[in-house]
Amino acid sequence: MIYYHHFLTDCSGYAARGRNNDFPELQCCPNCRARNRMLRHGFYERNAIDAEATYRISICRLLCPAYHKSVSILPTFLLPYFQHTWRTILNMLLAWWISCLCVCSRQLRRFYEKRGWKKQNEIALFFRSEGVEAIFPEKKAEKAICLFQMIQAMEEATFVRRWWHHRINSFMAAVNYRGARVAPTF
Ligand SMILES: [Zn+2]
Repeated sequence: MIYYHHFLTDCSGYAARGRNNDFPELQCCPNCRARNRMLRHGFYERNAIDAEATYRISICRLLCPAYHKSVSILPTFLLPYFQHTWRTILNMLLAWWISCLCVCSRQLRRFYEKRGWKKQNEIALFFRSEGVEAIFPEKKAEKAICLFQMIQAMEEATFVRRWWHHRINSFMAAVNYRGARVAPTF
């Protein structure tokens, strides 16, 4: 399971602090809800990429003492299973859609574009459930820009918390893809 935590820093700050980041202590297992203090269970390393650099970062794992299932603490700037931070992905796509500026490889841009394209309805539904009543543009290209700008305008932790309240995968995951569960609250 994935448990999001807002570390009050960006990708480079998180990378610089390494294993000294202020990792949360959980008194309740987000998986089975048992009121047991979660145990520290080491780290794993992964890449995280923003507009500036590629970082090697440490992800902290916790273990449920009751059922021995592990929980990974993911910083709010990342999406599950993606190396680019979600703001970097948004910026890449918006730069392309608005200014025809390709700030990554064409192959990567196409990959993200395809994903974002297919998730338009789900993103629109998300904003509807957030109480947004504005009419979205009818043309697909304009609608995509509008929706991605709305995500971009949201505060990081707020977007992550609200998105995962009802959703089973991220706004960049393949439709119906079901990876590790994300705890709905943090
Ligand atoms: Zn548990």
